[in-house]
Formats: sequence, C-alpha cells, structure tokens
Amino acid sequence: MRIESVWIGRGGQGIVTAVYIVAHASISDGLYALANPEFGAERRGAPVKAFLTLTDYFDDSPEPIKNPDVAVFLDDKLIEPMRVVVDAVRPGGYVAVSSGKSPEDVAKLVGRRDVNIAVVDGIGIALKHVGLAVPNGPMVGVFARVMGIPRLESVKEAIASQLGKAVEQNFAAAVEAYKTAVVIPASETGSARASVEIPTTSAFLTGDYELVGWDKIPEGGLAFPGSSLRYKTGSWRVERPVIDHSKCIMCRRCWIYCPDDAVLEVWREAKGPRGRSVKVKSIDFDYNYCKGCGICAEVCPTGAIKMVREI
Ligand code: SF4
Ligand code: SF4
Repeated sequence: MRIESVWIGRGGQGIVTAVYIVAHASISDGLYALANPEFGAERRGAPVKAFLTLTDYFDDSPEPIKNPDVAVFLDDKLIEPMRVVVDAVRPGGYVAVSSGKSPEDVAKLVGRRDVNIAVVDGIGIALKHVGLAVPNGPMVGVFARVMGIPRLESVKEAIASQLGKAVEQNFAAAVEAYKTAVVIPASETGSARASVEIPTTSAFLTGDYELVGWDKIPEGGLAFPGSSLRYKTGSWRVERPVIDHSKCIMCRRCWIYCPDDAVLEVWREAKGPRGRSVKVKSIDFDYNYCKGCGICAEVCPTGAIKMVREI
C-alpha cells in the first residue's frame, strides 16, 4: 500500500502541523510516513506546500511525488494558481478542498470528472470548535475519511503530541469534518496523465524563473528577481478591516504596524464647514494585499477599525 498526497495552503493555516498529525497518527497505526513541507516566502499568508507519503513497507529511496493519490487544498483560492497539482492527481484519486462554497461550485473550480472531490467548510468548522480560522484540523479529518487512514483515535493522540493544547477542540473539528465532508464521486474514467514536475511554491505565483549556480548569485543572494508585489496575500483573507472615519485621529499607528504595507493614506471627499465638499486625508486599505491579520484593529487607539468576516 502506498498513498501519496500533496497539501496546499498558506502560512498560518497550520498545513505543516496537519501533515505531521497525519504522519504521526499513521505511524501509530503501523504505517511508515514521510512528510516534507516546502516553504516559499516564510510569512503568514504566503503559500506553503507539503508532501506526505504513507506506505506499509519501509521505503528508503523515496521518489518525488508526481501523480498524487490525494491533493488537499486548505484554501480554494489556491486551486487555480496550483492547477498543475489538480491536473497531476491520478484518475480515481481525490481532491479535498476546504471551502465555504457549495460542493457543486467547488467541483466546477476543480474541473475534473475523473477524480473524487471532497468538500468541507474547514474554516467554519475551525471557528466553531477552535475559535481560529485555521482549517488544518478539519482537513486532517477529511483525509482520514476519504483514505480510510489514519484511525480517528490515532489522530487524537497525534493532535495531543503535535499541539499539546486545545486537543479536544481540534479533535472535535477533525471529527466534524470527517462526518460532514461532502464527497462527489468521480463520474468518468480518466486516462493516465503525464507525470509533471510540481513547481516550487514561489514559481507558481511568480512564473518561471531560472535557477542559477552559486557562482552566479548576485550580491544580496537573490536567486531570481521578484518582490512581494506578486504575492497578493489578500486572496487569503477571512476578515477585512473596515474603518469608521469619524473615530480616526490619523495617528497612523495602523500604517506603522501593518506587516503587508496594506494601510494607505488617501484623499477622501468629505463634508466640510457649511456643507461644502472638501478633501481630507484619510486611512484606507489595499485589499489586494491586506491579509486580514487584524493587527491594525488591535493597535488602533480609538477603536476606529473593526474586523468584519468576509467568507
Ligand atoms: S488587517 Fe490591517 S494590519 Fe493586517 S494586513 Fe490588513 S491592513 Fe494590514
Ligand atoms: S490607528 Fe486608528 S486612529 Fe490611528 S490612523 Fe489608524 S485608524 Fe486612525
């Protein structure tokens, strides 16, 4: 028996922990596990990928995963940029997605009829049980459901060993996802797809780049040109900041503390004395990059910023 899976998510969604939980639980069940997370830009909201292989025999020469049995998406917005992974799933395999959308809409996003599609509102379940928008526990539950391993008892032990806290809450989230995930079965028999190289986390967002040797790396150590402009972390957001201009005193603390440079100073039309229209300097947000971390609302001294649930 050999199960190969690729997990796609974003920094802060607990994808590495999810993979380690499945690996530890599977080892408790008597299997062998090999888990390799891969990071791009290491920051909250940046895409992260992890590979997990489970076998019932010892494999000391693991090959890279090319045609996974399962692709697990902790964020449905990553399906399109990471379509190469969806396309690589072997016919008859699974694409498991955390999404607030309907299973039918997710199936359209996946766009394949020769794979089984499992859908669960991972964020909704995580918020309900854990109070955090981290869909990793629910997606562990979905994996256990569609693959039949690891056992839920082993998942609970692994959550305890990996997290060491909030064990009951995270386990409850995994169990609810296990029970409520909607599975749309494959309706067509697909033909085997060509093996593809699954690109690095950075490459799928920034486009192709050329890797250079150590002697060609320029000063500063940049292997390829790029900037965080291309990482539109706004697509990951669960909550958005909304400002009440009447409470803002333009102290700019939000601007200073925002980790993604997503707080903007703009000119805004407002009513001035005697009802005249005037332009006033105001705070606004660049929702292309705002990842909804809530720091601006946290540091605002007047409570002018509120975080509002988006999905
Ligand atoms: S929530 Fe606020 S601090 Fe966080 S990224 Fe958005 S604007 Fe910046
Ligand atoms: S921290 Fe609050 S009061 Fe200060 S500029 Fe930002 S929104 Fe306005």
